[in-house]
Amino acid sequence: MELEPWQTELKNCVRTIDELEQYIPIENKERMREVLQNMRLSITPHTLSLIDFKNPNDPILLMSVPQEKELTFSPEELVDPIGDEAKSPVPFLTHRYPDRVLIYATFFCSLFCRFCFRRFKTGEANPGPVKSDIENIIDYLIEHPEVEEVILTGGDPLTLLDAQIEEWLRRLREVSSIRRIRFHTRVPVNLPSRITDNLISILKRCMDPIHPIFIVTHFNHPNEIAPENIAAIARLVDAGIVVRNQGPLLKGVNDDAGVLEELFKRLTDIRVVPYYLHQLDLAKGTNHFRVPIEEGIELMRQLQGNVTGIALPRYMLDIPAGKGKIPLVYEFAKKIEGNSWKIESPSGEKLEYQEPNSLN
Ligand SMILES: *Cc1c(COP(=O)(O)O)cnc(C)c1O
Repeated sequence: MELEPWQTELKNCVRTIDELEQYIPIENKERMREVLQNMRLSITPHTLSLIDFKNPNDPILLMSVPQEKELTFSPEELVDPIGDEAKSPVPFLTHRYPDRVLIYATFFCSLFCRFCFRRFKTGEANPGPVKSDIENIIDYLIEHPEVEEVILTGGDPLTLLDAQIEEWLRRLREVSSIRRIRFHTRVPVNLPSRITDNLISILKRCMDPIHPIFIVTHFNHPNEIAPENIAAIARLVDAGIVVRNQGPLLKGVNDDAGVLEELFKRLTDIRVVPYYLHQLDLAKGTNHFRVPIEEGIELMRQLQGNVTGIALPRYMLDIPAGKGKIPLVYEFAKKIEGNSWKIESPSGEKLEYQEPNSLN
């Protein structure tokens, strides 16, 4: 069978140390092999073309090229940092919140992000759900009509074949309680050629005005927004899909108010809604990417008011052991007593705000 261009691109990913060495010198190959035992390497040709290999601090290089630092673990770091397994009633499904579930449609990714929070799953090339798993998942959804939204995640669900994606959508649409379907995917970032005409028509066939499809993608730096990415996003949005963005705050990549402002504004310009900026989960071997929460809150405070409100995401912490996500927020308003509030304006002015007594 003839491969589609995106499949050829997947075949041509850099996956070995020898291939990587064509781009960048590797000092200690033995250590690097150890790194890859924890999580494999894959960088797509598209993303390779955006890296400036002469700059050791290139943000896309830092996100995609393995480093020996991944072998340094902190005692606080965990194998399952957000408790995926704690709330999994059937294999390949996590049900943590009442109205929505995660389904791990595959553990494969086009590019393995070096800060991945699910690295011990994605890294091993775990097999994804087979037919009987899918049956069990559908049965679970039928038995739990309070679940009205399914999030297909992984790995990257848009690396599945068209026929597999169509099958998932068809089966999920047969469950009458499922109103919304979401894909969590980095394909628009790392493999934009995957957003083909046929994929768009499959997605469109499985949507109607009250059964939408959402895509939550994952851009972390403005350098990732290249012409191919802009075109892929435009095709999705033009098809009627609302595209949002989430990604972690990463040291050396986007822990700068100017970089975040540019990222959020450029996303907004291409009709991607900034959704969440995540505090990096406590995954083993990712400490070199971690920004302290206090700094993250300060970065978001700096953006408040200076950046158009439609471009501002929420800064989130996913609590370990499956306890859920919470927003991390700067306290602009503090109650003093009675109806009095101590307020800080976006420009830092300290004010008092008096609420009138209720009329009742
Ligand atoms: C993050 C997450 C979701 C999605 O949460 P939203 O706040 O709706 O984006 C759903 N289920 C689980 C288990 C999650 O970890």
